[in-house]
Amino acid sequence: MANAPANAPGLRARNAGARRASALAALARRLAAAALPRTCLLCGLSCGTMSQSPICRICDAAYWNEPRLRCEVCALPLAGLRRRGGGIARFRCAACNGTPPPFDATLALADYRPPLNRLALGLKFRARLAVAHEFGARLARLAGDHACGAAPPDVLAPMPLAHARLVGRGYNQAWEIARPLARALGVAADAALMRRVADTAPQSRLDRDARRRNVATAFRVTRPVSGLHVGLVDDVMTSGATLEAAARALKAAGARYVTNFVALRTPQD
Ligand SMILES: [Zn+2]
Ligand SMILES: [Zn+2]
Repeated sequence: MANAPANAPGLRARNAGARRASALAALARRLAAAALPRTCLLCGLSCGTMSQSPICRICDAAYWNEPRLRCEVCALPLAGLRRRGGGIARFRCAACNGTPPPFDATLALADYRPPLNRLALGLKFRARLAVAHEFGARLARLAGDHACGAAPPDVLAPMPLAHARLVGRGYNQAWEIARPLARALGVAADAALMRRVADTAPQSRLDRDARRRNVATAFRVTRPVSGLHVGLVDDVMTSGATLEAAARALKAAGARYVTNFVALRTPQD
């Protein structure tokens, strides 16, 4: 009994001390993080003016915002420059004019090539999730630029990964892009709207026709999409065969319009 009154304040003091120590440790971690120079994901240099972006201002000016004219359907670069400030002209490449793909439009930030391809590789293989946030924010701004006349999507769906790949990686990079993009656009995002029903071979080893066959029946739509404008989100668009297969499944399920939102686009097959 004699110990209780003596120990209780001691215990309280020890608990308070532990709380103070842990608060101090958390503060120290925050200060250390703030003091550490952030390095640009493209040039690797640290810069005090990086604000929230994982890319420094010099790289941003040098590598992003290229005035590329792109096919409005498949986002392949076309000859000529996009008019600056004069609105977005609408153009289609010869392939999309000849045989329109099942999707209706594609927005791409830039070509998939050095050094920007490093961003996509870092996101996919090194869990650099800040890149996904950057891609999502930039795609939202691009969608704003292209908003003339086109209604925003009713729902965004990330391109699904095969289950084994999702388990191995721990995240779907397309979903990491879709979430901030949906927030910025004020639209819904549904990670489970599309499901991969076939575990397909990696597309990178196949030629264009083989890519199409490989993914032709790879997707199933899991929710009613009748009459909806669906935005498909992916990190990189290469041949477009995977996005075509997903769009075909969406159109077969009654989707009215499909827009691809891709961060980087391979210039040619
Ligand atoms: Zn840089
Ligand atoms: Zn095209």
